[in-house]
Amino acid sequence: MEKQFLNSNRQVITYFIRLVHKLTPQYIPALVLQSIFKTLRPLVFIFGPKLIVDELTNLQRVEYMVGLIAMIAISNFILTSGERWFEYKTQYYTQLFNNAFERYIAKKTAEIDYYNIEDPDILDLKERALFAIRNHWLMGSMIMALSSVTNEGILLLSLIGIIWTFSPWILLLLIGVVLVNSFLFRKVQEYYYFESTETVGNNRSFVYFLRQSADLEIAKDVRLYNMTDLILSKMNRTNLLIYKTYLRVYSAISRLNGFVSVNVQIQTVITYFLLARRTLAGSVTLGNFMMYAGSIGKLGTSMNQFVSSIIEVNRLCRQLELLVEYEKIPRSHEQGDQPISEDCKYEIKFENVSFKYPRADDYTLKDLNVTIRQGEKISIIGKNGAGKTTFVKLLTRLYKPTEGVITLDGVDIQDLDYETYMSKVAAVFQDYRLFGITVEENITGKDSNEYSYNIEHIIKEVGMEEDVSKLQYGAKTALDKGYDKEATKLSGGQSQKLAIARALYKDAEIVVLDEPTAALDPLAEHDVYQRFDELVQGKTAIYISHRLSSCRFCDSILVFENGHIIERGSHDELITIKDSAYAELFNAQAEYYSA
Ligand code: ADP
Repeated sequence: MEKQFLNSNRQVITYFIRLVHKLTPQYIPALVLQSIFKTLRPLVFIFGPKLIVDELTNLQRVEYMVGLIAMIAISNFILTSGERWFEYKTQYYTQLFNNAFERYIAKKTAEIDYYNIEDPDILDLKERALFAIRNHWLMGSMIMALSSVTNEGILLLSLIGIIWTFSPWILLLLIGVVLVNSFLFRKVQEYYYFESTETVGNNRSFVYFLRQSADLEIAKDVRLYNMTDLILSKMNRTNLLIYKTYLRVYSAISRLNGFVSVNVQIQTVITYFLLARRTLAGSVTLGNFMMYAGSIGKLGTSMNQFVSSIIEVNRLCRQLELLVEYEKIPRSHEQGDQPISEDCKYEIKFENVSFKYPRADDYTLKDLNVTIRQGEKISIIGKNGAGKTTFVKLLTRLYKPTEGVITLDGVDIQDLDYETYMSKVAAVFQDYRLFGITVEENITGKDSNEYSYNIEHIIKEVGMEEDVSKLQYGAKTALDKGYDKEATKLSGGQSQKLAIARALYKDAEIVVLDEPTAALDPLAEHDVYQRFDELVQGKTAIYISHRLSSCRFCDSILVFENGHIIERGSHDELITIKDSAYAELFNAQAEYYSA
């Protein structure tokens, strides 16, 4: 069984109604009006015939009857047209809502803190919430179920009132049957819930393999290692497990539904028998017979529908609750609201900073104390796994320090407004990704259909002028055929330059290059660094590179080892220290290059 949460139905429903109202304000009023029209119609057909039959069996006034029939016809026309009109309106709003909801979810997903993305519990919650929303048409079902509760609730109260005047005992019998049936319905719903939670893991693996089989990034390896059979057999296995659950659940459900039908039949026979007896004895008029028969006939279905809608709402609440929980995942942009002052000196300080990855046993960074002033050029070096990238991840607020603080001009960076802070730092990571959109959009991060920007200087500055001019549509060429069939694929070196252009375009105060030049040959790398250095004059630049030649033009070098900074100084200072780790690394590389 998957984890249950503790939100009451009231909390979930309130959340849901607020969300619907926020995303599509016209939706709820339209639904309410549609419900009113829908509920009034059956009542017209319960009262109308009674009045006609009573008139037929008594005074038989022709004009009165004609008037009655006309009234029934007109009310029916108005109610039907009203219901249809609002049905059409709600269909339209459903579309609007669905689109707005998809955008809302995409935004919420993009805003989840990076450090949470790797947390297995959060990953699982995300999968379950998104799966429920997409595959079970959750939002639409909830709207329908809530409307149905309101419609049937109003109708039911009216019917109970009518039947009460006939016989409270019959009313009790009817309610008794409905209660038994609702208990059976509840069991059915429990089976449905069991099915949805039981299959979620297998569905997830199935979708994983389905994606793998279509993922272009892995297509090469699938072919090289002949993985198709393996993928298909994995899919087949998960399918079989899913079918097994389906079989178990649906046979139980059909048994329960059978009991429900039998109960309804027994109830109908008893009530009609009593009604006919009283009518024959003369204690009930023919008109009232029709009204009671109509009401009793409707009560069963209406009550069953009412109860099953409530159970449905209950079931949907359990799934929607996942969305409530999903929204509760911390999102940094919602925390920290301090602005960055105009005269900020951009002095970064790591004060006793230690860091452990979520669920890791050991610290990756230990008790770091370092100050980086505005305009400094810093080089970070150290063996693989020494903690260099992690240092940058903390600086760029992808993770929070486990202990200690990082400050910008004395203010904890976590307390600064997220968007503002992020606009001041740019980083190109080793594993940067470009989007399939156009070159221009990749650089600016803005939709070209809505914005126009001059990016030629940036393209030139990173030395991509020639590359871009050769593209079919220049900077307007897209990068993924999945997005645009006339897209092109950039080489590793071109991609890296583009990633650097994107960072430069951001015009941030602190720029980090985390070994993004690995795909460039040494000459091109030297060229990129040289240009970059000129471009970021006056700004703080942090370079992480294995090629120590880049250290020469830096003001300061930080040498990392096992999560500690073991040396700090300029090239000239560190190279002269006997047995310094820096000198050792530098000389080893110099030998390699001269060899
Ligand atoms: P460097 O950049 O110096 O090569 P990193 O900062 O990437 O080193 O990694 C430092 C250590 O942290 C390594 O031991 C690495 O395995 C670990 N590490 C990196 N990323 C994660 C992560 N997301 N979760 C757990 N451990 C990680």
